[in-house]
Amino acid sequence: MTKSRLEPQTGTAFELKAGQHLRVIDLQGEQVADLTAFAEADPTEWLSSGRSIDYANTIYLTEPHVLYSNRSRPMLTITEDEVGRHDFLLTPCSRETFQIIYGNHEPHPSCFENLWRNLEQFGIPPDAISTTFNIFMNVEVGSDGTLKILPPRSKAGDSITLRAEMDLIVGLTACSAELSNNGRFKPIGYEIHS
Ligand SMILES: [Zn+2]
Repeated sequence: MTKSRLEPQTGTAFELKAGQHLRVIDLQGEQVADLTAFAEADPTEWLSSGRSIDYANTIYLTEPHVLYSNRSRPMLTITEDEVGRHDFLLTPCSRETFQIIYGNHEPHPSCFENLWRNLEQFGIPPDAISTTFNIFMNVEVGSDGTLKILPPRSKAGDSITLRAEMDLIVGLTACSAELSNNGRFKPIGYEIHS
């Protein structure tokens, strides 16, 4: 088992082989981790929020839901979930997110940049990064369709575990967006179990 830690507002990318489990831990509570995945054999196959939501028939994916690729093949299965609320609607925060939503034109760390900078070494370009599975992100949908971003429900030590269903390249961040993390940036822990 390998045990790692993402410092606040950072990201990483790594291989996750079929059958291995990835456990993502909110070490201090109320911290989002964005996850994306690509088929190692052909990175033009990627984790699809649309396919996953279609087949689970819910926007709130949890155990035992399967996360599918754009080619409708299982990529990851959620095998354990201590929180039960994650988002699969919103894209990873980016420089433009902070300009458009926050009116902040200063340089700002972002999940999008933290993903593409780490995925680059695997030959995955920025434009390949789609909607991320936003672990611990708490998005409520109003009856009129309005989205509300609320503090994550996760407490210190809470985790979710996903099993790889094919060999994957995974990107993972400790999210950089103020709104998603109740205004405070914290680290994220992750473990890879064979
Ligand atoms: Zn983010």
